[in-house]
Order: sequence, then C-alpha cells, then structure tokens
Amino acid sequence: MTALDTVIRGITNGAAGEVCTPDLAKGPWEFDTMPGYGPGSSMLDVIPTGSPRQGALPAEYRDAPDAELHERIRAAKAALGDRLVILGHFYQRDEVVEHADFLGDSFQLANAALTKPDTEYIVFCGVHFMAETADILARDEQRVILPNLAAGCSMADMADIDSVEAAWEELTALYGSSPDADGRAPVIPVTYMNSSAALKAFCGRNGGIVCTSSNAAAVLEWAFERGQRVLFFPDQHLGRNTAKAMGVPVSRMPMWNPRKALGGSTAAELLDAQVILWHGFCSVHKRFTPQQIEAARASHPGVRVIVHPECPMEVVDAADEAGSTDHIRRAVAGATEPSVFAIGTEINMVNRLAAEHPQHTIFCLDPVICPCSTMYRIHPGYLAWVLEELVAGRIVNEIVVDASVQADARVALERMLAAKPRG
Ligand code: SF4
Repeated sequence: MTALDTVIRGITNGAAGEVCTPDLAKGPWEFDTMPGYGPGSSMLDVIPTGSPRQGALPAEYRDAPDAELHERIRAAKAALGDRLVILGHFYQRDEVVEHADFLGDSFQLANAALTKPDTEYIVFCGVHFMAETADILARDEQRVILPNLAAGCSMADMADIDSVEAAWEELTALYGSSPDADGRAPVIPVTYMNSSAALKAFCGRNGGIVCTSSNAAAVLEWAFERGQRVLFFPDQHLGRNTAKAMGVPVSRMPMWNPRKALGGSTAAELLDAQVILWHGFCSVHKRFTPQQIEAARASHPGVRVIVHPECPMEVVDAADEAGSTDHIRRAVAGATEPSVFAIGTEINMVNRLAAEHPQHTIFCLDPVICPCSTMYRIHPGYLAWVLEELVAGRIVNEIVVDASVQADARVALERMLAAKPRG
C-alpha cells in the first residue's frame, strides 16, 4: 500500500477514493517553508503576510513511525497528568483526536477548557483563532498551545483588522454615527467565531458581538434590535443563509469586497442594506454544490441531506436542513430508525459520524476527499513535540492574546453569551 493509500484509507475509514491532491500523503512539515496553506481545500487561498509561521519540526518527530509517536504522546500525557488538557476539533484527523480529552466545535472546546480551571496547559488541536479564543476565556495562569503555528484558518484570514477598520471608516462616513429615532446605531459589527481576536475586540469596542454557527440567528436579532443594519464578517455564506432564513431579502445584502471602493457596492445599495456581507468564505464548505445533492438524491432515494451554513446559499436551499456541526451530530444521533444521511461538512467529521453510527448509511456530499488544509497541519508529530517540550519544562508554540485585545474581545463574547437563542 502506498503512503497516499494509507492516508486516504485513514480519512475514509478503509474506503478508497479520489483525493484533491496527492500531497495529502506528505507530512505537514513539508509545507512549513512554502507560501500556501498546504494540501487540502484551501490550497488556492492566499495566506496574508504576517500570518504565523511554524519553525522546523525536529527530525526525531518527522521521522518517527506512527506507533512510536502515539506511544510518546501517551507517555507525555501521563507524565503531565491533570496539568494538561488536550482539545480536539470535530474536523481534526482521527490519529490526533484519539489523544483528545474533549472533542467539539470551537466554542464548545474553549468552554471545555474552562471546566478544568486547575489545568496549566491547554493544547488546542484545532486552528489559530480557536486557540486565541481559549486564551481569551482562560485564566491568566493557563497557557494555550497550538501544536503547529501554521494551522490558521483561510476563512478567518480573509478579514484582517486593517481592512475591517478601513471598511468601518467608509461606512461611518456614509451613514454618520448618530442613532435613528428608535435609538438604533447606523451599523452593528458582527463577527463569526472564526475570526482573529483582533476582530472580536473590534466588535467589542464598536457595540458589536460575536456569533457561532449555532446562535447566528439569535445574534442577528440582538444586532437588529440595536442597529439599523449589520456588517457581518468574515463568512458571507453564514451571514447570508442566516439572514435569509430570518426574512431579509438577498437584494438587501450587498457584498463588501475590501479591495474595492465602498466594498464594490454603490452608496444607494449600502444605504438600503440590512446586512453587509464580507467577501469571505470557507474553502471546505465552498466545495459543496446543488449538483452533489441531486446526485445523492438520485443514488439514495429518501436520503436526508444536512449541510453546514458555511455552504453557499444554493446548497443550503437544496438541502433538507442546515445547521452547525453540533446540529449535524445531534440530527444523526437522534435518528431512531436506520437512515441514510448525506452530509455537507468536513470529511473527518463525516467519517467519524459514519464510524460511530454503523446502523446508518452516512456519506459526504463531496465525492472528492479534500480535508481542511489547516486542520491537516496538526499531526501526531507536532503533538508529541509540544507535549515532550512541556514535560521538559519548556513551552513552545504558545498563543498569547494581548491584554487590551483580550478585554475588548471578551466584551463581544459576553454579549454573545447573553444573547438568547431563538426558541
Ligand atoms: S473548515 Fe473552513 S472555517 Fe473551519 S478551520 Fe477549516 S478553513 Fe477555517
């Protein structure tokens, strides 16, 4: 069996399949000096200058066989005991998830860390913005570690603080800053959890709020009570799908392209806007199409199609339902009769669901195996390295959010926690 076969069978629980690139068989360290995100769905996205770069992984971790890495991880975990918690995101590869103390979405994991207040080290096997959120919510003494600094998020990187501040200036010049007769501000900034700490802090400073894919509707309601319109970043699809489901016409949701004057819209369009959508997207969820749903319905009559709201609007419209990773998990777990599910989200999560629920037929809508490029960057080699460094008393790859950024970001996160979910 070739290295690529091993990778494919690892991702697909034994089934062979077409992959988006043979580079998936290589160790992530092979891409640390290259300009892109590496193999997977974000290969064509551009990494912004200034994004964190990973230094060389020592050869003993690059060259070690998998069995040895797992043994070393287990030994380091045992040595650190209760001083350590390892968090694993739903989209993470199985050989990393098997060492996690908690598995969940980004916000569940940040909160899981809070349930272990005596823990000294939080090793976050997810991506950069998730580790930042954990650092914002953690106690000052807790240290948050991202095993590979190159594990960013191409969607989060599509909205940087300078571009958002420039957009805010243009919008303030257009709308002014005075509230209307009902006391509503001209515009409220809403950032998706999948964004940098700097953007969460921007929202905290400017009367805005954070949302997750689980509570986006409740958060938009909160924002509409306080503002005439919303600037939503970085994911246009979550913003559009959520607002559309709440009755906002698509024609009143212009896109903001940071490379164009007034975001590429006219002043009249922006004055009429209810939601201004940042020009960002998730390259994993952008791969799903209505044609894939048609094919799933043709090959599996009666199939239940569930997609993530980061998918394009046409895909959400064609699906039976759309919801967060947690919604998808609960929908599958709650099916009492053996059922067929076609899922539109990241392949590692879909295949884990299939393995956990053998009574159901569960498959990914996308027939091409193309995992999240940045989750792929976390590999047992990096996990073994950061843990053994901790055992030796050294902290590597620590994620530290500046104190002033933390304070403002916490304001926006606390507003989110206080915003009541829709019934
Ligand atoms: S799946 Fe998409 S949004 Fe999630 S970490 Fe990967 S690129 Fe970012």
